[in-house]
Order: sequence, then C-alpha cells, then structure tokens
Amino acid sequence: RGELQRKPEWLKIKLNTNETYTGLKKMMREKNLHTVCEEAKCPNIHECWAVRRTATFMILGSICTRACRFCAVTTGKPNELDWEEPKRVAESVRLMNLKHVVITAVARDDLNDYGATVFAETVRAVRAMNPETSIEVLPSDMMGDFSALQTLIDAGPDIMNHNLETVRRLTPRVRAKATYDRTLEFLKRSKELNPDIPTKSSIMVGLGETKEELIQAMDDLRAHHVDILTLGQYLQPTKKHLDVERYYHPDEFAELKEIALAKGFSHCEAGPLVRSSYHADEQVHKARRH
Ligand code: SF4
Ligand code: SF4
Repeated sequence: RGELQRKPEWLKIKLNTNETYTGLKKMMREKNLHTVCEEAKCPNIHECWAVRRTATFMILGSICTRACRFCAVTTGKPNELDWEEPKRVAESVRLMNLKHVVITAVARDDLNDYGATVFAETVRAVRAMNPETSIEVLPSDMMGDFSALQTLIDAGPDIMNHNLETVRRLTPRVRAKATYDRTLEFLKRSKELNPDIPTKSSIMVGLGETKEELIQAMDDLRAHHVDILTLGQYLQPTKKHLDVERYYHPDEFAELKEIALAKGFSHCEAGPLVRSSYHADEQVHKARRH
C-alpha cells in the first residue's frame, strides 16, 4: 500500500547517531543483551540513550512465544532461561549511567511462572547496583497469573507499565492471546497489590480506531486506576505487519493529551513518535507526587 510514500513530514526524522551510541551498541552485543530501542529501530534512540539517559531492555531472551500483528519481535521456540541475565542488565545500566530504565520481556508462555522470577531478579540486581536509577517494568500479561504479578511487584519497581495497545474492538486483530479485559484487570490488580507503585499503559493510534473508541479506552483505564498514559502513532515494522490506517496529525495528539489529562491521568505523553518508554524519566517523579 505504499506506506512509505504516504508517510507525513513529521515522521521523517534522521537517525542521529554519535560515538556514545556506537560504543553502547557494541557493549550490548558483547553482553548479549537486547534493547527495544535497537530492535524496534526506535527513532528516539539518540535522545534517550545519550541525552535523557533512558533505555528499554528486553529480557528473557529475544524470541517471543506470541505473534502480535504489530510487533517486530521474532516468534518461535524461546531461548534457554539465562540466570546471568539480571546481572548483565544491571552492569549495563551502570555502564550507560542510566537515570531511568525500562525492563520489558518477551512473553514466556512456555514457563510456569511466565518468567516472573528472572524478571524480579533483574529488578533487584539493577536496584542493588544502581540505587539512583528509577526502574519501570513492562511485562506481558503473564496470562493473567496474579502470583506471577505478585512476584514482580514484590521486587519493588517504580512504575508498573502494561500496555492496552489498542481499543476493545481491534484487540483480537492486533494482539495475540492478550485480551482487553485481562489487560485492564492486570493493571487494577497491580494497584491493589501495591498502591504505591503507579500504573501506566500505552495505546497505539492509526490502526483504524475511532475517536470515541479511544476515549472509551481512556475511561476504561481510569476506571482501573491507571495513572499514566502514553499515546503514539503505530508504524508498520514490515510489510507483513498490520497496515497503518491513518496518520494522526500532531495537533490531534495534543487534543488527545488534553482529553486524557482532563480524565485524571497524572501524566500523559502523546505524539507521533511517542513510545511506551518515551520521556518515562519525567513520569516517575510526577506520579510519585500524585
Ligand atoms: Fe528506547 Fe523507548 Fe527511548 Fe525508544 S523511546 S529509544 S524504545 S527508551
Ligand atoms: Fe511482541 Fe510482546 Fe506480542 Fe511478543 S507479546 S509479539 S514481544 S508485543
């Protein structure tokens, strides 16, 4: 569908790379670590890594047991669990001198605890080695297993992020296995297990949703006590993935942000290049004050 030709001006940005970035990339390979920043070819990588000192690590291997139709992560037989991974992530956070780190993971539906033990170990290892760094976790729904969620909450992250991704009607088409209601329930339960940990969620726009549906999704998130919302443009990672139905104008994002704030989110980041982890460093402090 010639998506590239249709891409509007505000999405055409040049990847700005420098020595810091090249050095960090090399370190990632040496430590056999994966970042969403690199795998998703995130346009914000220079700003995040070199200026804001934020990065998103993807743990529990690089192969996912699910195949969501918007996501570029490889699907297949997962990697062996690597118990040294928490330590390597912690060391990298230190070497990168990160102020804020997002730790996400592929969905490990093959494991009894959905990977929660290694996930929690990673949070603890990062905390022990980097006491000044704020930690945000972005797990899968762990098939709604609340004891796995408890394991992760007990590790004491600063933000619990779990993405709704899209509106109710489009969820079965966009996401694999995850359901709209289980996502909301997961976020609500997280808040119940530890009300001091702010919850956060993200929605991609441009998949064919209506404005009413988006507003309904915001209401549903607020009804489940979600504090922070991020809204960004969906971009098709390859031709095999879902088409972009529409590009939202930056003004539309600004309007959606106002709507979100009026609904009581303590923080909303909205814009064409906003990703779940974009400007996350600012959200910790705002959410804590809330
Ligand atoms: Fe990485 Fe998120 Fe920043 Fe993109 S927005 S570079 S994924 S931390
Ligand atoms: Fe991608 Fe997460 Fe879906 Fe796996 S569960 S395919 S990593 S979005």
